[in-house]
Amino acid sequence: MTSHLIYPSTNLNAIEQLEIVGGEGIYVVDSNGKQYIEGLSGLWCTGLGYGNEELVETAARAMKQASFSHLFAGKFHRPAVELAEKLHELMPVNNASVFFGNSGSDGNDTLVKLINYYADATGQPQRRKIIARERSYHGITVAAASLTGLPANQKHFGLPVDALGILRTHAPHYYRGQQGSESEDQFVDRILADLEAQILSEGPETIAAFIAEPITGASGVIVAPESYYPKLTALLKKYGIWFWSDEVITGFGRTGNVFGCTTMGAPEPDLMTTAKQLTSAYFPLSAVAVRGDIHAAMLEQCGQVGIFGHGYTYSGHSTACAVGLKTLEIYQRDGIYQNAAERGVKLQAELAKFADHPMVGEVRGKGLIAAVEVVANKETRAEFAGGDGANRVLKHAQDNGLLLRNTGGSALAFCPPMIITDEQIDDIIDKFGDALDKSFAELTAEGLI
Ligand code: PMP
Repeated sequence: MTSHLIYPSTNLNAIEQLEIVGGEGIYVVDSNGKQYIEGLSGLWCTGLGYGNEELVETAARAMKQASFSHLFAGKFHRPAVELAEKLHELMPVNNASVFFGNSGSDGNDTLVKLINYYADATGQPQRRKIIARERSYHGITVAAASLTGLPANQKHFGLPVDALGILRTHAPHYYRGQQGSESEDQFVDRILADLEAQILSEGPETIAAFIAEPITGASGVIVAPESYYPKLTALLKKYGIWFWSDEVITGFGRTGNVFGCTTMGAPEPDLMTTAKQLTSAYFPLSAVAVRGDIHAAMLEQCGQVGIFGHGYTYSGHSTACAVGLKTLEIYQRDGIYQNAAERGVKLQAELAKFADHPMVGEVRGKGLIAAVEVVANKETRAEFAGGDGANRVLKHAQDNGLLLRNTGGSALAFCPPMIITDEQIDDIIDKFGDALDKSFAELTAEGLI
C-alpha cells in the first residue's frame, strides 16, 4: 500500500487490502497465493476470463507492428476499419456507424455531444434534452455522471451540469418502487404515466433521447417487469424520442443474447454505448454507435462548419481495436455467446433457490448477470443499517474464495466470466450459500435480525 494513491470508487478512509497478482480462466490469485472465483468478471468486463494467450499475443503483435496509430485527420489503420465493420454487422442499430473511445464514460460523453451536434445540424437546436432514470449508472466523467442517477456520483462534484438538460424519471425497479399492493403491471403503468406527463410538460420537441441500461448493472442489477419495455417502446415512438441503449455491461453476450436490448425486448436503439467486454478488458476501448442517417446528418453539418471537433488521442488506438476484433472473433468462434446463454439458465435457476432464505429479499437477473438482494426483514424489505448484511455476506464469500460486489446498497451482484462451466457455477453456489448461512447465524446471534 502507499498513501500516495487516490483509489477510484472507494471509501478513502477504509481501504480493504487485497492485492491481486494473477489470474487464469475464471480465477484470480492474491499475493498470498489464495485463489478466488472472479464472480464479477473484475468490473463486469473480463468476459473471456484471465490469461487468454490469444488476446495477449494479439496485443503484443499489434504493438510491435505500430505501437501507436490514430484516426485523426484522415489517418487510418486496418484494425479500426475492420472493427467498425464488424460492429456495424453485429449491432442492432439501423445502419450503425461507430466512434471509438477508451471507456464507457467517455463513450456516453461522446453521445451527449453528438445529440447536440445533430440538433444543430438539423436546425432543431431545442431538441437536446435527454431523459435518464433514477438508480442508473452511465459513468463518471462530467456528462456521463450527469446522466448517472446516483447521488454519490454527483453530490460534492458540482454535478449534474444543468446546461446538459438532463431529465430524471423512475427506475423500473418493482421490488423497491412498488407502492402499496400494486401489481407489476400497475407499477409499470404508473411510472410510464409519470414519464408521459413529464414529456408533455417539457415539450416533446425538446427531448432528443431516453437513455437506459437494458438491465441496470452497477446500482443493483435491476431487471424491469416484462411489460415495461414494450410499453416504453410505444411511448418513445409516439413522441419521436430516440432510444439510447447503454450496453457497457450488457453488451456482447452477458444477458444471453449479443445485446441486452434484445433480451429485454427494449426498443431498437438509435444510439448505443459499448465498452468492457468489447475487449474482454485486455485493453481499454469503447465503441458508441449512431444510426446511419444520424451519421449522414453529421457529415452534412461538417461540410458547412469544417472540422468535426471531437476526438480522443486514443480514439481507435490500433492495439485496442486489434484486441477488440480478436475478442469478438473468439466469442463467435468458440461459442461463448451460446455458453453464456446456457450457463446463464443454470445460474439463474440455482440462485433462485435462495429466494426462500430468511435474509434474501429478491433474486433477479438474466443470463450471466444476477443479484441477490439481502434484507434484514423479508416482509418490510428493510435493509441492514449501513449495508451490513450484504457486506457481511460479501466478506464470508471472499473468505470462501468467491469475489462478488455489493451494488445499490444491498444487492450482491454476480457476473462471472462467460467461459464458466456448470461445475464452476455449482462451486459459486456452494461458496455463496455457505457465506449466506454464516452471515445469518452471526447476525441472528448479534440480535440484528
Ligand atoms: N455505462 C454503464 C452501464 C456502466 O456499467 C459503466 C461502468 N460500470 C459505464 C457506463 C462507465 O464505464 P467506464 O467505467 O468504462 O467509464
